[in-house]
Amino acid sequence: MTQIALSSLYQQLILEHYRKPRNKGRLPAPTVVVHMNNPVCGDDIQLHLAVDAEQRVTAATFLGHGCSISQASVSMMTVRLKGKTLDEAMALADRFTEMMHGSREAARDRALGELRALQGVSKFPVRIKCALLGFDALQEAAKRVRAASAASESDGG
Ligand code: ZN
Repeated sequence: MTQIALSSLYQQLILEHYRKPRNKGRLPAPTVVVHMNNPVCGDDIQLHLAVDAEQRVTAATFLGHGCSISQASVSMMTVRLKGKTLDEAMALADRFTEMMHGSREAARDRALGELRALQGVSKFPVRIKCALLGFDALQEAAKRVRAASAASESDGG
């Protein structure tokens, strides 16, 4: 497959997630909700996560609007998150960030799944923030869940 065919395949995948986002909506009882926006582009994302006592993500949804890159990225991200521990979710965020900063090795990592369709975005610095917005929300969400669980452990003595 040529490079051009591949990137048009990726383009289709991005548009497909944009038009039919996965896991879009509210969670009835989220553990954490994080709102993030990117004023440069007008992207807006609200990430809802349900996390169990073992710090495993049992459900991930989002609300939001904005460009196709921001919305496709968060849609693809929620697909990858279900069943992952917070540590695994952070590893995914790190890997995706490496890919956005041009790492070819990260761009080949199957752990990223459909998120690899966004690798071409790394060539457009102003759009990298769009692609990372959902992951920024994820990192903030993980930080809050960990802070809350650390606080409740120290309460329990
Ligand atoms: Zn954007």
